[in-house]
Amino acid sequence: MQTRLYQITPDNTIVLQEIGAILRSGGLVGIPTETVYGLAANALDGPAVAKIFWAKGRPQDNPLIVHISEFSQIYTLVREVPSQAVALARAYWPGPLTIILPKSPSIPDEVSAGLDTVAVRMPSHPLARAIIRAAGVVLAAPSANLSGSPSPTTAQHVLDDMAGRIDAVVDGGPCEVGVESTVVTLAAERPRLLRPGGITLEKLRAILGEVDVDRAVEEQLAAGEKASSPGMKYKHYAPKAHVVIVRGPFSRYAEYVNAHAGADIAALCYEGEEAALQVRAFPCGRRDDPSSQAQHLFDTLRALDGMKIKTAYARCPEKDGVGLAVYNRLLRAAAFEIVDV
Ligand code: AMP
Ligand code: MG
Repeated sequence: MQTRLYQITPDNTIVLQEIGAILRSGGLVGIPTETVYGLAANALDGPAVAKIFWAKGRPQDNPLIVHISEFSQIYTLVREVPSQAVALARAYWPGPLTIILPKSPSIPDEVSAGLDTVAVRMPSHPLARAIIRAAGVVLAAPSANLSGSPSPTTAQHVLDDMAGRIDAVVDGGPCEVGVESTVVTLAAERPRLLRPGGITLEKLRAILGEVDVDRAVEEQLAAGEKASSPGMKYKHYAPKAHVVIVRGPFSRYAEYVNAHAGADIAALCYEGEEAALQVRAFPCGRRDDPSSQAQHLFDTLRALDGMKIKTAYARCPEKDGVGLAVYNRLLRAAAFEIVDV
């Protein structure tokens, strides 16, 4: 299969109709969103959704997020819309927030992976919304990477993983947030954060009051332990290099990294720290700006792959605000390996 690359703006209605037609006829399209690039299919077409799992090599038990362009579409996807969901949508939709609710019978099993709930999000990226509108159907879309590898934040990343496997990729430039959406479930007794992202825990609590944090956000689940969010149990976001998080002040981090220096060793540090390091340095955002770290995390992890790095020592992100999302992803890229210095 030849994967077509589209470079368009949201007002290019003729090409948008062509992309919409691919999706309506059961095809797969890589689409830009404000979080990461998504691999989209008609969410109500089970066989089309099954192709997403094939293209990504995604485990069958990992459910997908359904993307909508108008709030009213949620009523066809879930059994009921509680007032908390309306309040969250008012505050943060369109945006990087996914809400989980009990699913309606219209949701194919391929989307919910056998669960009785469904994840719904309204993206804010103008092209993502224009594509959903042009398709005229809601779109199931996980991140458009091969399962296990870092999520794509540019159209080129999508092509690197998916060329020949999907019908098309739409280039919408680099993603603004850079990590996947925040996932909160309203299907449990109390609201619970399942995956941190661009909408912070603090922002969720401002609307919902108390919000629990799932154990899987910061900890590794035991073998066989049931995950509330199946995606959190897999090794994830991992470049080919072995990543180790080194936790401590910069002076001790630099000492540790320099003591391990070598041609195939790298440092995943913050901007401006390179000069003190005697290994190849990959700066990833600014130290006091977790949003900039989120924006560059996956791109930096992918860059390691191009450089034949054996081990990359990463700075440990602060867990406040969007930092919790950076920490959560880096922890998985490092397969939970942390060294305290
Ligand atoms: P991705 O789209 O690749 O970012 O993956 C979607 C994430 O949302 C995964 O971590 C899934 O496990 C999670 N997810 C999707 N649907 C549900 C659901 N019904 N219940 C819990 N987690 C979900
Ligand atoms: Mg993913």
